[in-house]
Amino acid sequence: MLSSFFLQAQNVVPVTCPVVPRGIVEVRGNRVVAVHPASEKRRLPRNRFFDLGESIVIPGLINAHCHLDYTSMAGVIPPPSSFTSWIHSIQGLKRDWTPQDFRASWLEGARMLVESGVTTVCDIESVWDLVPDIAQLTPLRVISCLEFIDLSHSAEASRLLDKLTQLQRLETSHKWTVGISPHAPYSTTPILLRALAKALKPLQNTVTMHIGESAEEWEMFKLQSGPMHEWLAPQRSMKTCAGKSPVQIVSDSGILSPSFLGVHMNYIDRADAEAFGKSGASIVHCPRSHAYFTHGEFPLDLARKNNIPVCLGTDSLATVRFPKTKAPSLCLFAEMREFTRKNPDVSPREVLEMTTKTPARALGLNGQAGTLSKGAFADLVVLRVKTPASDPYEALLSTEDPRPGVMIDGNWVVPPPELQP
Ligand SMILES: [Zn+2]
Repeated sequence: MLSSFFLQAQNVVPVTCPVVPRGIVEVRGNRVVAVHPASEKRRLPRNRFFDLGESIVIPGLINAHCHLDYTSMAGVIPPPSSFTSWIHSIQGLKRDWTPQDFRASWLEGARMLVESGVTTVCDIESVWDLVPDIAQLTPLRVISCLEFIDLSHSAEASRLLDKLTQLQRLETSHKWTVGISPHAPYSTTPILLRALAKALKPLQNTVTMHIGESAEEWEMFKLQSGPMHEWLAPQRSMKTCAGKSPVQIVSDSGILSPSFLGVHMNYIDRADAEAFGKSGASIVHCPRSHAYFTHGEFPLDLARKNNIPVCLGTDSLATVRFPKTKAPSLCLFAEMREFTRKNPDVSPREVLEMTTKTPARALGLNGQAGTLSKGAFADLVVLRVKTPASDPYEALLSTEDPRPGVMIDGNWVVPPPELQP
C-alpha cells in the first residue's frame, strides 16, 4: 500500500480552482490526492511532510507544439526575408543531418523542457524511426505526432495510418501516446486530408497541423500568387488554390474535431474562425516563433469571439531569436512572457491556463494533467519567489527561476533545493 507525502508552499495554484495560500499538496504514487488548506497541517504525518518555503507550486506545464528534433538548429537560420526562403533553409539543414543528429537534438530539447517546468509535450516527429524508443529516454509525458508531407499521392494516407496503427499497439505506457501531423495545407492535399478524416474519426487520436502560418500561404491559396505559389506550382496540383483560405481547405476535408490542434493560425478571417470554433478544435500560438518571422498580429480577438481554446507552444529553437550573450532554451515561461508583452490585457491567470488546463483538454488529458486536483497525475513545478506579489499568477510569470523543482508522475525529476540530498 502506497503512503502519501505532503508538500506545503507559500501558494498552491491548482489552476482549476482558486489559489490556496500555504496550501498542502498530497501526493500518493503517481497521482495528486488533494490540495489541503493550511489549517489541516496539524493532523498530517510529520515524517512525510515537506515545507517548500517561499515558493509557488503549479501544475506541470504542457507544451502544445514542439519539434524536439530541431533543437540543435538554434540560431543556425537567421530570421528570413520570406517564409518560403526559410523552408528552403531548413530543408537544406535536414538533408545534411544524420538520424543520430536528430536523436541527439531531440534528447537535448527534452532535457531543456523538463528543466524549465514542462511535464507534457505534443511533439512533431519528422523522423518516425526515433519513435517510440526515444520517448522512454525522457521523463516527459509525450504525445508523438507523426509528421507527414505529401504533395501528390493520396494513396500515401495508408502508409501513415499503417504506421499509426502499428505504433498504437505499443502504447503500453500511460506516459506516451501517438498522434499524427499532416504538415500543412500547402504541403498536403485535400484528398489526403479527407482520407485521414474518414479513418481517424472513430480513433480520436491527436491530429495537429500548421495552418495559416505565413502571409505567403494565404496568398498562395486565396490569390494564386506569391513566392510559395511559384515554388510549389511545379510540384503539386494548384487546383485547390481557387480562393479558399488555408483553414477552409482543412475544414472542408472534415478533419476538424475537438482532438484537432491548428498551429499558428496567424492568417485567418472571420468565416475561418467561425468554422474552427464550431468544430471544437483548438489553436496553438507560439509567441517567440511568431516574433522571429515578424508575422502579422495573432488574431486573439477572433479566437476569443468564437470560443476557440488557445494553447501556447514553443515551436522549435530553429525559429527563436536570442541575444548572442544568452544560450537559447526551449522554455514555456519565456513563451508566456513574450505573449504577455504582446497582449498585456490578458490576465496572468489566463496566460497560465494556456499552458495548463486548456492544452490538457485539447490533448485528451482533461483532469489528468494541467491541474492539481484529485486524481490528476502528480506532475508539478515548484518556483522560487523571493518577493511574493499580491497576485501569485503575476509573481510566477514575472519571476525568473533558473531551475524550478519539477515532479513528473510522482517522481522528482528536478528536486527543489529543500529536498536535494
Ligand atoms: Zn511547428
